[in-house]
Amino acid sequence: MKLTRWYPPDIKPVRKGWYECKCCNRRYFWSEESWDNTDNNGWPTKQNIEWRGLTKRPQPQKEQP
Ligand SMILES: [Zn+2]
Repeated sequence: MKLTRWYPPDIKPVRKGWYECKCCNRRYFWSEESWDNTDNNGWPTKQNIEWRGLTKRPQPQKEQP
């Protein structure tokens, strides 16, 4: 799995999912509207974080036998 570069707080992820926060090295969930960790037994959710994510790598399709 490859990681993206760090993005500044004013840039938001395109896709919903988990991202890493630079300052505390924790995972934050991007809900497409905000950083939201309410489902994830709780540290306070900050909105201005520097983040990075996993780059999407398409898997080669397996041929059926
Ligand atoms: Zn942090």
